[in-house]
Amino acid sequence: MVATIIDGKAFAATVRGKVAGHVARLKADHGIIPGLAVVLVGEDPASQVYVRSKGKMTVEVGMNSYEHKLEADTSEADLLALIDQLNTDPEVHGILVQLPLPGHLNEALVINAIDPAKDVDGFHISNVGLLATGQKAMVPCTPLGCLMMLRDHLGSLSGLNAVVIGRSNIVGKPMAQLLLGDSCTVTIAHSRTKDILAVSRRADIVVAAVGRPQMVTGDWIKPGATVIDVGINRIDAPEKGEGKTRLVGDCDFDSCAEVAGAITPVPGGVGPMTIACLLANTVTACSRAHGLAEPEGLTA
Ligand code: NDP
Repeated sequence: MVATIIDGKAFAATVRGKVAGHVARLKADHGIIPGLAVVLVGEDPASQVYVRSKGKMTVEVGMNSYEHKLEADTSEADLLALIDQLNTDPEVHGILVQLPLPGHLNEALVINAIDPAKDVDGFHISNVGLLATGQKAMVPCTPLGCLMMLRDHLGSLSGLNAVVIGRSNIVGKPMAQLLLGDSCTVTIAHSRTKDILAVSRRADIVVAAVGRPQMVTGDWIKPGATVIDVGINRIDAPEKGEGKTRLVGDCDFDSCAEVAGAITPVPGGVGPMTIACLLANTVTACSRAHGLAEPEGLTA
């Protein structure tokens, strides 16, 4: 293996440490405690795990965590009423509605009901527009985490060729906007891209956000390129015993690591950065709400 492994777990701990430092200063200098409200509708087991872990880390960095657990059959009107209440609550600086929502609820309507200034997931249409036009936005957590890792590893990204594989609204598109904001030459590849291997091989930076286990192999990678693997896929792992599974990314780690200059592993790469960036966004939202200086190194 030639690639440096970008340790997302360690870097996320550093980011959380910076968040905790800023939270401590907000408390000491201004008597302000940032608050994050998480809304969970229904009992999806994976969502419950995420919400629990978000709540725990929110408290660990010194912020207030408010969890709102609603029944799976909650009406849209009741959910919107709760969001309204959180929008006007001065103790709440960030609001996150855990997705996916049960089928009877209109996700776009619900997300766009959140005050954009408190939209720490960065999915509100206003934040999408602000990011696209290079203005101060709340930025989606996963791409923000990828950007932070790239800046930390490469320093300036200016002039580099970046290929983002995947064009979803939550990862691919905002990732491309962020890389463009850092003056990369950006290509977005997707399921209809012709000769995707050749497109990927031109890149100094490859961000894979596809949802297909180990699709990107070493021959897709230009020697020395930096590879950010956003994918989280569970596959069978008979080597661990019958019925066992393991997590893999969208990149085939072993073959990519033979060629790349640096690569994020799965697990332990982008995943831990996502919650760290949620906390970063909450402290940023709180600072902005009070007209105070934003935390350094925690924004796009
Ligand atoms: P989506 O399913 O919304 O988007 C996948 C994208 O990949 C689409 O744009 C699709 O193209 C493209 N794609 C699918 N198949 C191919 C192919 N064969 N060749 C090229 N492109 C292809 O996924 P998300 O963006 O939500 O997530 C992507 C991955 O990232 C998933 O594994 C997910 O679990 C993971 N993830 C990880 C997070 C983290 O915290 N680490 C957070 C969010 C997601 P098209 O548009 O043409 O269909």
